[in-house]
Amino acid sequence: MPEYNIQMVDLKGQYTKIKEQVDKAIFSVIDSTAFIKGPEVKAFKEELENYLKVKYVIPCGNGTDALQIALMALGLKSGDEVITANFTFAATVEVIGLLNLTPVFVDVDKATFNINVEALEKAITPKTKAIIPVHLFGQCANMEAVMNIAKKHHLFVIEDTAQAIGADYTFSNGDIKKAGTIGDIGTTSFFPSKNLGCYGDGGALFTNDDELGKRLEAIVNHGMYQRYYHDEIGVNSRLDSIQAAILRVKLPHLDSYSAARKKAATYYNNAFADIDQIETPVIDQQSTHVFHQYTLKLNGVDRDELVLFLQEKGIPAMVYYPVPLHQQKAYVRPEFKDENYPITMELCKSVISLPMHTELDDEQLKYITESVKEFFK
Ligand SMILES: *Cc1c(COP(=O)(O)O)cnc(C)c1O
Repeated sequence: MPEYNIQMVDLKGQYTKIKEQVDKAIFSVIDSTAFIKGPEVKAFKEELENYLKVKYVIPCGNGTDALQIALMALGLKSGDEVITANFTFAATVEVIGLLNLTPVFVDVDKATFNINVEALEKAITPKTKAIIPVHLFGQCANMEAVMNIAKKHHLFVIEDTAQAIGADYTFSNGDIKKAGTIGDIGTTSFFPSKNLGCYGDGGALFTNDDELGKRLEAIVNHGMYQRYYHDEIGVNSRLDSIQAAILRVKLPHLDSYSAARKKAATYYNNAFADIDQIETPVIDQQSTHVFHQYTLKLNGVDRDELVLFLQEKGIPAMVYYPVPLHQQKAYVRPEFKDENYPITMELCKSVISLPMHTELDDEQLKYITESVKEFFK
């Protein structure tokens, strides 16, 4: 086995390149002792607002909190229905349940793995109040259709941008917007392995709406609009100053990180182009893809066998996600039937994600792709 030390995500390699600035940023926060709500948090908030071209960024504790806080800000009541995709990470649905709202799952699109907009419109009932499209694996859901449906049925849209920060979405009139700045609220996560990751937990909300901006800022801070006046029940969810300082070092690199991921994805795509049993990622014309994950669909292949084969060669591979949400014990309901989710069911059985990060070099990519090809010989 060659000494490549291939990882799904190489946080150490990325850190090594920016170590000097990161270390300095961390120590200057310690030196200032402004650990909570320090100037670094405010500076990061403003820099991210500029990057995303959005009116308000509200930093918070993590991406799951961000989703919960977004739903809290919409003033929904118990039993209101919130529609989301069945093929995603559980955080999205968890917070719907926590707030006593009713999750409604819809199937995903066969090509992009993002929410299927026909299924979405069919799932709308008089109780539906919000839609949470997830920009899965790094490319935007069909936001043009989602926004049209939302407008027609008077629904809120919360974009879960945990996997797609930095992606651009182009509307058919030529308008270009950053993922997370299209719906009423966008949410993201700065979990270390996300495309813009800090060195612990972190998250943020985005909005262009003045009212929502104010409300989100209050909810993250115990429902305080004025110090020690609690107008509503909020939460305590903060991005700490050390994490903000690290993110300030990393944000200027985000576009080059996205480019590095795209370059690796292109290498993979070219290498696998003539393997019949592999479907490489399909890129939606209206969205750029920032490749949070590089996910293949396998046809007629024993996936476990491939994972094992790669493992023996020192190549990690992961399955995101092996179980559809409607089958998870926490969320099963009699009305969620397997036959309503044919694409999700198929994807859970057939997808596999290969190493994807900013530090993959041609030597590693060559080794990984040749190993995969060897399996299919
Ligand atoms: C990572 C992730 C989250 C949760 O983020 P945390 O910061 O870990 O709470 C939510 N939604 C999606 C789609 C994610 O990938």
